[in-house]
Amino acid sequence: MQHSSLGGREMYAELRSPNVHEPHNLAEFTNTIISYKDNATSLWAGGTYIMSQKDFYPSKSANVEIISLQNIEELKHFQRNDRFAEFGSMVSLSKIQSVGALLLPKVLIKTIDKTATTTIRNRITIGGCLCTPSFRTPLASTLMLLDANVEVRYLKKRMHSKWLGISRIYDKNGGLALLPNALLSRIRIPIQQFDYQYFNAAGSPLREANTSVSLAAVAKMEQSSISTGKMIITIPNKGFCQSRDIDNIFSSLQFPCDEGHLSSFFSYIITYIRENLGEIDQLQEVRLKGMLSEMINELNQKSLSV
Ligand SMILES: Cc1cc2nc3c(=O)[nH]c(=O)nc-3n(C[C@H](O)[C@H](O)[C@H](O)COP(=O)(O)OP(=O)(O)OC[C@H]3O[C@@H](n4cnc5c(N)ncnc54)[C@H](O)[C@@H]3O)c2cc1C
Repeated sequence: MQHSSLGGREMYAELRSPNVHEPHNLAEFTNTIISYKDNATSLWAGGTYIMSQKDFYPSKSANVEIISLQNIEELKHFQRNDRFAEFGSMVSLSKIQSVGALLLPKVLIKTIDKTATTTIRNRITIGGCLCTPSFRTPLASTLMLLDANVEVRYLKKRMHSKWLGISRIYDKNGGLALLPNALLSRIRIPIQQFDYQYFNAAGSPLREANTSVSLAAVAKMEQSSISTGKMIITIPNKGFCQSRDIDNIFSSLQFPCDEGHLSSFFSYIITYIRENLGEIDQLQEVRLKGMLSEMINELNQKSLSV
């Protein structure tokens, strides 16, 4: 690598710095995006994913245009009423944990608890977690399970904004399907009561996407059976597995549920995943089986204590 000398210090001559824009509100953000028109920029939220990418910075090719979302006040708001809680996309996961502990569904709080570490959760934003491009995050799954909606702002001649069901920002393989430069600005989470909520995750979706897996489920129960049950499986390297058929089987289970029923339920899920998302790693399969069996055990115990 070539070096040049600068004031006695050695510098890497070929390294480039990105241009960083720091809008202070959504109006300034819109002006910045309009000035770039069709050229893609990189939105910077907490930066935890961006900085973990190999050669992102410093780099010989880091001549990207970055728009930092850090100073946009509107994206840091939180509000709630009886029906929903609404977070700006720049609210950190730690903040959601602290303000939502008594308010939000437990399955969401458990999902956040299992995401990265306390220090990193201080930086990770809910918007960044939903817009991570190269793998599917458990948080996105849990918010789909809870029927969350998101507000997206995008440029098409002029700036538009619209509310969508969260699953609509992903394609059928769970890949992010936002337009270039689109901004996810708010997330609205319905406040709901469930009799049972489950979440567990194994492996890091960032570092071991092809062996990591997570399972989230919610259910309303009547004595020893489920009246409505829903579940979603995150396979970070393949997609989200959510199916009405799986939910129907889940809802028709009688508790206590024996090994035979558990085993055929698991086989159904694995066949569904293979047919719709493709083959998954053996470790993902083993981990998923462990989680499903843990969940059914909890439901068995719950049914016996009614
Ligand atoms: C040590 C470590 C451990 C981790 N562990 C986990 C884990 O357990 N589970 C997990 O899911 N992830 C994990 N991650 C991955 C990472 O933290 C997530 O992808 C994170 O959610 C990114 O959030 P961020 O706010 O830092 O986003 P950034 O890194 O700033 O951005 C992520 C992507 O989203 C885009 N983006 C950000 N905000 C918006 C917005 N509002 N609108 C449109 N696009 C936007 C950015 O352009 C970028 O492409 C880990 C990361 C690290 C470094």
